[in-house]
Amino acid sequence: MKREKRLTKRERKALAPARPAQPHEHKHIHCVACGKHLDPEEFLAQGSATWIQCLHKSRFATCTECVEISKRLLAEHDRTGQPVQSAQAWH
Ligand SMILES: [Zn+2]
Ligand SMILES: [Zn+2]
Ligand SMILES: [Zn+2]
Repeated sequence: MKREKRLTKRERKALAPARPAQPHEHKHIHCVACGKHLDPEEFLAQGSATWIQCLHKSRFATCTECVEISKRLLAEHDRTGQPVQSAQAWH
């Protein structure tokens, strides 16, 4: 009986497909309206950032100052079915 050739770690890595982008998931959290980087601590009570949800229950981060703009972006996304027109992320 012939045994399957075991792949080395490097070979397996080469075979693994690149991960597709997750539109509603970010390694870094950025405000949907202004693109500012937000730290997890900022989402705590009385923080400067919060989460808002579109009709599909996807969560989007936003600075508290940007909430109105962010809600408008999500409303537009829910109305048109187009991806949320989020701002370019920056640091
Ligand atoms: Zn970031
Ligand atoms: Zn913002
Ligand atoms: Zn959505």
